[in-house]
Amino acid sequence: MPLSQKMGWTEHTHERRGHPTNTTILTSDALGPAIRALREGQVVAFPTETVYGLGADGLNDAACRRIFVAKGRPSDNPLILHVLGPEDLEGLVAELPVAAQRLIAAFWPGPLTVVVPATEKVPLSVRAGLDTVAVRAPSHPVARRLIAGLGSPIAAPSANLSGRPSPTTASAVYEDMRGRIPFIVDGGSAEVGLESTVVDCTTQPVTLLRAGGIGRGRLCDVVGEVVIATANSPVRSPGMKYRHYAPKSPLIWVQSTDDAFVRRILPDIVSAHRRWALIAPDVMKGLQASWFYGLGSDDVSAAHRLFDAMRTMDQHNPDAIVVIWESQGGLGLAISNRLEKASGRRVMPE
Ligand code: AMP
Ligand code: MG
Repeated sequence: MPLSQKMGWTEHTHERRGHPTNTTILTSDALGPAIRALREGQVVAFPTETVYGLGADGLNDAACRRIFVAKGRPSDNPLILHVLGPEDLEGLVAELPVAAQRLIAAFWPGPLTVVVPATEKVPLSVRAGLDTVAVRAPSHPVARRLIAGLGSPIAAPSANLSGRPSPTTASAVYEDMRGRIPFIVDGGSAEVGLESTVVDCTTQPVTLLRAGGIGRGRLCDVVGEVVIATANSPVRSPGMKYRHYAPKSPLIWVQSTDDAFVRRILPDIVSAHRRWALIAPDVMKGLQASWFYGLGSDDVSAAHRLFDAMRTMDQHNPDAIVVIWESQGGLGLAISNRLEKASGRRVMPE
């Protein structure tokens, strides 16, 4: 029996329901209406340092289910509980493994999520029926003020429609969530620009479920060994099986920034497309394309700009979007992972 049936609700409910809600964008100095809406069990989008989140009272099962409806998220893909710090975990986690304690001490507040054994107090919808829960303490001051104002953890996935690139600005959230939620809190552009790193701490050694804002090297410095989950590994994140981060136009990823290679293969790649958009290092601005979006010159700027680049280029409705990027260490694994999932085709030197 599918999990959703076992849990007594349907997947993708939004497709069958109307969304008559008026969506208001709030400035971050007036959080009152957002906190009241959260208390009433409604869904509110808010800024974090990774990407914008789609939040609800994390201890209210009915409220958390509304997140899945607003986003069109399959009910077997669990949410992250956002807390102020480890002191908020009492009663929610059954056990805090040593590796989780170390990672929390090193990276909270910040873009690191740990998966640990849950207690029954964590709503079934948040953990998608699993006996574990994913927890993170965001560093963004607005996210922290919302959690403190609600007085409860906030359950939140990224604030995009399921499958779309994560939103890094309030207007990107509005594009996807207009009419679906009452409030979006505007906190400017998200600093990291990619989702949190997710580490399963119930295994020994710990397992990297999703590359993100904290690079693998930094995790290894704290816990020694970190195994990377693959599609076939026994431990995996339920979210990994879904298509992610994709713009509407087909995306072709050229995984090399070697000038000679790019100039040689680009004409072939784009010959079938009349109007095509290019997302590439700033120095490639001179290449002929209908539209250009520069990713800067290093992985930190590329991470910050990538999702906005995909969404901005998508608005022109190009026949194709070509991304030229080759990542180094650190955030590189996270960027490559997003591009891999977003692209229909990848080109690299032999
Ligand atoms: P998002 O909220 O869109 O950033 O996605 C949250 C990610 O955390 C998804 O990839 C989930 O599958 C993963 N996640 C959340 N809770 C758990 C859990 N209990 N076990 C494994 N992965 C989880
Ligand atoms: Mg997401």
